[in-house]
Amino acid sequence: MKILVPVKRVIDYNVKPRVKADGTGVDLANVKMSMNPFDEIAVEEAIRLKEKGVATEIVAVSVGPQKAQETLRTALAMGADRAILVQTDDEVEPLAVAKILKTIAAEENPGLVILGKQAIDDDSNQTGQMLAALLGRPQGTFASAVTVEGDSVTVTREVDGGLETVSLAMPAIVTTDLRLNEPRYASLPNIMKAKSKPLATKTPADYGVDTTPRLKTLKVAEPAARSAGIKVADVDALVGKLKELGVA
Ligand code: AMP
Repeated sequence: MKILVPVKRVIDYNVKPRVKADGTGVDLANVKMSMNPFDEIAVEEAIRLKEKGVATEIVAVSVGPQKAQETLRTALAMGADRAILVQTDDEVEPLAVAKILKTIAAEENPGLVILGKQAIDDDSNQTGQMLAALLGRPQGTFASAVTVEGDSVTVTREVDGGLETVSLAMPAIVTTDLRLNEPRYASLPNIMKAKSKPLATKTPADYGVDTTPRLKTLKVAEPAARSAGIKVADVDALVGKLKELGVA
């Protein structure tokens, strides 16, 4: 069974994003970029399924600029077998990514597509669900455990009220939550080996997908600055202060 793992190049999760002075977006100049953390978890899960003998090949896909090659090389160094870069300098919205992935899935016939539950740059949490709808395949989102048995996959989902377990007939779509696994670091020999693994470069037009944005960003703003706290002498002073502020 083949597993397709879409990985997005995003602003590194340790970086504090800065909003551009003209409010049109986040400043990405000279900012460290990395693989979306949920996608690292997706790559790790695919590798574990391969190590268990469930999967035979892992194909990583990224839609993004030429530099997204680095993200794919990271996936290859972790253990993916080959990669596809769908190169574009445009910002590609989840629907267009899902349409591209749909065509790739039709070509590659993966038993599972494992995506992150969300990309931490736009926090859309849409691509996996849209892909499942476009392909007409079952989906198990926010997975905290994934078990493949025969032609079905059991997914434990992190939902508001607790854990929900669903059984999906494969081929299926799974999206990863934070507690699914702890991704491995690529070893130096594997980083070297990854340089010679196959990486195909395509464009959205190769898949017949128009990436023209459907959404228009009106404004991006920093969250309001928090005002400084104050110290009060005792509980009575605290209650007095809360009453004064109208919150007690
Ligand atoms: P989103 O719907 O944008 O929050 O993204 C959810 C997941 O879809 C991500 O964790 C990735 O697995 C996948 N994805 C989104 N955008 C891209 C992209 N440009 N290239 C590859 N995978 C993507």
